[in-house]
Amino acid sequence: VVRAERIRKVFDGQDVLRGISLSVTRGELVSIIGPSGCGKSTFLRCLNFLEIPDSGSVSIADVTIARTSPRWTRADEDAAHRLRAHVGMVFQSFNLFPHRTVLDNVMLAPVRVKHVKPDIARADALALLDKVGLAAIATRYPDTLSGGQQQRAAIARALAMRPDVMLYDEPTSALDPELAEEVLSVMRALDAEGMTQIVVTHDMRFARAASDRVVFMDGGEIVEIDDPDTLYVAPKDARTRRFLRSML
Ligand code: ATP
Ligand code: MG
Repeated sequence: VVRAERIRKVFDGQDVLRGISLSVTRGELVSIIGPSGCGKSTFLRCLNFLEIPDSGSVSIADVTIARTSPRWTRADEDAAHRLRAHVGMVFQSFNLFPHRTVLDNVMLAPVRVKHVKPDIARADALALLDKVGLAAIATRYPDTLSGGQQQRAAIARALAMRPDVMLYDEPTSALDPELAEEVLSVMRALDAEGMTQIVVTHDMRFARAASDRVVFMDGGEIVEIDDPDTLYVAPKDARTRRFLRSML
């Protein structure tokens, strides 16, 4: 579903991504771990062109964007728009619209962007809110919700656009452990349904328990990528060993 090849990104003359390639197949849950500043968020943002890579290519579903010329053209932006339609993204801060109810937050994009009829969008949103355990509080406003509830609402909102892949950037970092667990269990349920998910996380336990594969990044590169048990128990690279020792 997702194929990134040789993604490079320079910020202020600094190589933040040094040629990252990663393919994720349908239904996989892939976690990305690594030290602060190693480029995890930048890589995730490059996957849906919130950040425009300097070179490399990204394919998601049936859309491929290859950076060949340094110019980002109107046609590239159109392609990025089509690509983003296949991607749901969830951030550390929940990013809900504060002046809209939870239900409206989930319905809004399908109605506005996809021109889904409001009745259908509402029924769909309620079903998604039920799935993330929020059906009972659909008419409340975001600031009356716990962080865990807000994050689950953000996930429901992303799912409402029927993405092929979900990207999460530290979805539980702002949450207390119990609230984080509510969010992680939603992600596990989505995994069980076959959703493709890429998760940047500092939660080593979740990465190990829930991932099909774990990516260890350092210094703008993928150092190592393996199934979690192999990576945690028998990392091949000294940098991976050092990082895991510091985190566990
Ligand atoms: P963390 O775990 O702290 O979230 P990260 O692995 O997500 O870190 P990134 O946010 O991707 O790291 O940042 C990688 C590097 O790129 C850092 O040195 C950061 O300062 C730099 N960087 C990120 N975004 C920008 C930007 N918009 N302009 C300039 N430099 C940036
Ligand atoms: Mg980050």
